[in-house]
Amino acid sequence: MRLHTRTYQESEYKLGKHRSNALELIEKIPIVEVEGEMAICDGGGGALGHPLEYISLQRPNVVESCKYCGLRYSSRSWADH
Ligand SMILES: [Zn+2]
Repeated sequence: MRLHTRTYQESEYKLGKHRSNALELIEKIPIVEVEGEMAICDGGGGALGHPLEYISLQRPNVVESCKYCGLRYSSRSWADH
């Protein structure tokens, strides 16, 4: 009984770990710097592509993530002001 409970918790832990590994992969990709107030993401095209996603960058130095692929975008030109 006790052993069964422990096994269940371990498998839950593995699921959570797998999820955080996926986030770590995204965090290894540098933030994409764009000029202007709008980033357009297509996931890089090809097999990893997705429909065009318009990402509004309302303020300088704000990082927005694409809701499809998780790529992060920031506006560079606003920071130059
Ligand atoms: Zn994307």
